[in-house]
Amino acid sequence: MNLQTLTDVEVKLTHKGRSVFANRSFSKGETVVTGRRIMPVPERTNHSLQMDFDLHIEIDEPAQLINHSCSPNTGVRNNEFGAYDFIALVDIPSGCEITFDYETTEYISIAIPECGCGSSNCRLKTRGFKFLSTDIREKYGEFIADYLKP
Ligand SMILES: [Zn+2]
Repeated sequence: MNLQTLTDVEVKLTHKGRSVFANRSFSKGETVVTGRRIMPVPERTNHSLQMDFDLHIEIDEPAQLINHSCSPNTGVRNNEFGAYDFIALVDIPSGCEITFDYETTEYISIAIPECGCGSSNCRLKTRGFKFLSTDIREKYGEFIADYLKP
C-alpha cells in the first residue's frame, strides 16, 4: 500500500476553491495523492471521475479537490481502491499546486467550460479525451485512465 501521509499535501482555499498543494517535494514518478472510491454516481457531475465508459464515481479528499490543468504536474494511474493514484509527471517542489488533466479520465468532460489554468498550451475549454489530439494523448503515455487505453 502506498498511502500518502496527511502531511504530504495540504488543502488551501484559493480563487479556484479548495485546492491541493504539495507539502514537500516529490520526485517524478512518485505517488503524490491516492484517491479512493466512495461510491458510484448515476451520471457525470462536476466532481465525479470517470472509470469506464458507463461508470462515474465520487472519490475521497484530498484527491477529489485536485484541480485541472492543461499542463499538469500529475497523471492518473488506476489503483487498488477502485479509483486513481496521482503520479508526479515532473519533479514537484514543495508549495506547488497539484493538478491533473481532466481529459485523461473523462471521455467527455463538462467540468471546465472555460479553463483558467494559465499554462501556455491551455486548450481554453476541456471537452474530454474523445476530442484530444493524438500528440496530447501520446504525451501522457501510460498516465491516463485504463479504460481509455488503446
Ligand atoms: Zn487550461
